[in-house]
Amino acid sequence: MRKIIVLLGAPGSGKGTQAVFIKEMGFKHISTGEILREEVKKGTELGKRVKSIMEKGELVSDDIINELMFNVVRENSGGLLFDGYPRNITQAESFDEFLKGENLKVDYVIYLDVSEDICKKRLSGRFFCPECKKDYNIYFSPPKNDRLCDNCGKELIQRDDDKENVVEERLKVYFEKTYPLIEYYEKKKVLYRVNGEKDVIEIKEDIEKILKNGSIKEG
Ligand code: AMP
Repeated sequence: MRKIIVLLGAPGSGKGTQAVFIKEMGFKHISTGEILREEVKKGTELGKRVKSIMEKGELVSDDIINELMFNVVRENSGGLLFDGYPRNITQAESFDEFLKGENLKVDYVIYLDVSEDICKKRLSGRFFCPECKKDYNIYFSPPKNDRLCDNCGKELIQRDDDKENVVEERLKVYFEKTYPLIEYYEKKKVLYRVNGEKDVIEIKEDIEKILKNGSIKEG
């Protein structure tokens, strides 16, 4: 039976990093943010509709996102890992209803618990080299010289939605709209809390235990 995982956590909680590991366990990684950024880059109709909303850190309309995600479920037959969806209660309810019609359900919600302050630093500190794509964080892994790449000396750049004012807005939207999903999934008994401030590999191991035993405890 195919499994559906939802990765939940604030922007900057490390969902993308952990998604790479979960993907290695055989799940297809569906990142709504990545899908939408790709549409914007390609300049598609959808991309044009969502560009300014994303630049402000606001949420794209539920109808657009739901349809996009339902198609992903219809077009893929294996296990799926959702990263960035659902983002509010309305999306979660629509998703549950749709999955029910497909004889599926959300099996695991992995909630990466990270303080707001750390999320803020992880995002607004994130820079990368436009040339070699090396990633930096000015708080946690800064370049040797101010804002210049250690490898090619190019000036580092930042994703538009990692700029400080947009990060503030993304976190505000998260606490208002997405955070209530923790209680929603807790009531459905599919929520698993993981301390997202631990070392990346420890978090990976905690998630592996949950997917294997249904809890972080060895078993
Ligand atoms: P992310 O990379 O997941 O933080 O997503 C980047 C941006 O894409 C968000 O700030 C939203 O504008 C948009 N987005 C991603 N997922 C969703 C979603 N499920 N619902 C609405 N908007 C979304």
